[in-house]
Amino acid sequence: MSPLPADTPPIIERKVWLPTPYTFGHAMPPGPAGEWLAHHTIVPDLSARATLEDEARAMLNVHRYHERQKYGGFSYQWAIFDSGRIWEGRGWGRTGAHTKGRNSKSIGFVFFINGDKRSPSAKAWKAAQWLIAVGEVSGNVARGASLGGHRRYAKKSCPGAVVTDEQLRYTRVAVDNAYRR
Ligand SMILES: [Zn+2]
Repeated sequence: MSPLPADTPPIIERKVWLPTPYTFGHAMPPGPAGEWLAHHTIVPDLSARATLEDEARAMLNVHRYHERQKYGGFSYQWAIFDSGRIWEGRGWGRTGAHTKGRNSKSIGFVFFINGDKRSPSAKAWKAAQWLIAVGEVSGNVARGASLGGHRRYAKKSCPGAVVTDEQLRYTRVAVDNAYRR
């Protein structure tokens, strides 16, 4: 794959929103993960105008909620906001707690929206493309890995009824086209 474009947004490290050390999940099995799975938070649903502080607080709130649910903390590897920012959750090296039966085989990212009401912003979709490119360029995920929604494996609408399989397919193809060669 070719190098990432210069306008690739920075990925915001976990220490920005979680100042205390925290070990999530288990080590991922060796080798690249074979699948991308998209989710939505439902709550909170943050707009593109959210500040860095708003997003940090939202990350921490979901983390605390997932601790109470006994998921072992923030359950997704990555988070994407309508601002276009990408935040580190568990990161590449740890299993998620987002999709029953697929947590050691996939990398999960979450859009901070209610996908039953609306779709992610254009910037958020672009960020998803970047995240996929970064994951595959770095070898954490297999090149061309399938991108699906949580609903592939659960009786849920996740990442939301308004977020279509067509949009997910388009995102996958856009990355393939941008980073071919
Ligand atoms: Zn989900």
